[in-house]
Amino acid sequence: MPEGHVAHRNAGLWNAHLVGRTVTGATSSSPRALAQDIPGRLRGDVLASAEARGKHHIMRFASGRVLLTHLRMNGVWRLGRGTPRGRPRNLTLALEFGDVTAALYRCQSVRLLEPGEPLPPGVRRVGPDLLDDAVDPAATTRDALAATDPGREVGEAVMDQTLVSGIGNVYKSESLFLAGVDPWRAVGTLTSAEAEDVGRIAAELLRRGVRDGGAITTFDPPSRPWRRPGGERWVYRRVDEPCRRCGARIRARGQGDENRTTYWCPSCQK
Ligand SMILES: [Zn+2]
Repeated sequence: MPEGHVAHRNAGLWNAHLVGRTVTGATSSSPRALAQDIPGRLRGDVLASAEARGKHHIMRFASGRVLLTHLRMNGVWRLGRGTPRGRPRNLTLALEFGDVTAALYRCQSVRLLEPGEPLPPGVRRVGPDLLDDAVDPAATTRDALAATDPGREVGEAVMDQTLVSGIGNVYKSESLFLAGVDPWRAVGTLTSAEAEDVGRIAAELLRRGVRDGGAITTFDPPSRPWRRPGGERWVYRRVDEPCRRCGARIRARGQGDENRTTYWCPSCQK
């Protein structure tokens, strides 16, 4: 699932391989992208910079145009040589930069701004990014949680991208497990140290996700010959399985207005 680590990984790849290059071809099979004539407006433009802000992807072009994309639940950006892989009907947008193509699939959130057009409120209101080198994740998360409604549940508040950005549904459950914090507690009951732990641990997990190429692995089983490769977690999608620390059964329940499933250990998390 694309969380903040995916946006940062993509921006890093674009900075390494695409910035400074010209859009030599652009195609789309997305009504949303075609209605804005995104392919026609970007052809011939030069990518000037690429940036991730929370889960938002921001491509700035030399013309002053800005391409905004957000992968939501199912979108994916792929970078490769030659014709894009994947089903053409799922292709939201393909941008060719000579022999390298950046292809976007299954993305409902794509918008091209004209030069000088302000970023939409949804992007402007994004809170400090836990993967931003200028951000102290522990202090920033502590302060953001202290400033919001103290009655909000922790597992809902840490997903609010206007407070801090980058944490999605998997990292929510995993960070709160590793911090030992019950996701159903009110944020007003957190100590400063607990809130700092949540931010610090979430940032560590997100950074690992960037390093691992977008995969979300949070648990490394003790070395053993039959070990499965990567992708293992402490609690996420492990409902009714035994906690890897205490053996209690992992629980799961929908949380927040969007009813996103939270996984937790009722014994380890207080
Ligand atoms: Zn446990």
